[in-house]
Amino acid sequence: MSKLTQKPLRSKEVLMDSLERLTALFEKFPGIGPRQANRFVQFLLRSSPAGRRELIEAIQSLSSGVHQCPECMRFHAGEKKLCSICSNPERNAQFLAVVASDADLAALEYSHNYRGNYFVLGGTISLASEKTNGLRISQLLKSIPHRDQLTEIILAFPANPEGDATAVRVREEIHHGFPSLKITALGRGLSTGSELEYADPDTIKSALESRR
Ligand SMILES: [Zn+2]
Repeated sequence: MSKLTQKPLRSKEVLMDSLERLTALFEKFPGIGPRQANRFVQFLLRSSPAGRRELIEAIQSLSSGVHQCPECMRFHAGEKKLCSICSNPERNAQFLAVVASDADLAALEYSHNYRGNYFVLGGTISLASEKTNGLRISQLLKSIPHRDQLTEIILAFPANPEGDATAVRVREEIHHGFPSLKITALGRGLSTGSELEYADPDTIKSALESRR
């Protein structure tokens, strides 16, 4: 086949060499800039083939072995339908923490200060559009009657304007459907603007303790 009949190159990524391409891919990760992306690539270059293979397999298994828990909506790699948190009878079902993302759930979980259940809303309200598209507010509301032991919903959103707007909206919706249910929000142990995802365990602990 002559070169002229081949398809034209569609993206600039195909013009890059493999190192540049991998760096560009790492740069798409949240919070990762060009220098950090380059450090990841350098690290992988120094890693053993077995180490690189492990990473490749772990990434590949994301598409085959991971699914969403129908109860809390987080992604998990368990064999069962329910995730390890929702299927754990030792969790305190009196409490339900509503979080924006899987990463925020992980931050609360790793702080080891919370033993209740979770619900992942799937984001926060965008202040530009004030739209709640894609947020699982109605799914959350529908799940409440099935949670027999539930006594308190803890709104655990990031301490920023989007998180605040989401908390106001979710609080209104829950209160409208379930007026007697106690609804609290994380206290301002989290400084304004801080992402729950990056908060340290002590900060999360004080935010939980000062919830109101
Ligand atoms: Zn779950």
